[in-house]
Amino acid sequence: MKCPYCSHLDNRVIDSRLNKDKTITRRRRACASCQQRFTTYERIEMMMPMLVKKDGRREPWDRGKMIVGLEKACEKLAVSMADIDTFVDDIERRLQDVGGKEIPTTQVGEWVMEALPGLDEVAYVRFASVYRQFRDVNEFMDELKQFLGERNGD
Ligand SMILES: [Zn+2]
Repeated sequence: MKCPYCSHLDNRVIDSRLNKDKTITRRRRACASCQQRFTTYERIEMMMPMLVKKDGRREPWDRGKMIVGLEKACEKLAVSMADIDTFVDDIERRLQDVGGKEIPTTQVGEWVMEALPGLDEVAYVRFASVYRQFRDVNEFMDELKQFLGERNGD
């Protein structure tokens, strides 16, 4: 690993720790030449299945795209970037668990729908309104009522 300050190749690890869910190792390193310190992050490269869209086209999993969508759904809500990151980590874990080479995008959408109320209720409703592509507002309201009913019931 090249030192970002002087490009020297030798360094020593002065601190190493795992993140909360133990998927990323953060290493503090000191350059053997200029002694500057820098940080590296190691994460396991994940093998993701291809997503199959409704029209049959395939597309690779795109973490960034999901984050942008969630940020939109969570606009002006009390949801931190870290919460969104954790949420997407969870979806990625499920994708990995699939094991197969392909998964329908609708399945991923269902996972998001299931997990989103735990992140933020308003975000869920916003996402649902887009995801389900409600034909009319009544359909949307039914969904909303059902959702709020379930929440009140527990
Ligand atoms: Zn250096």
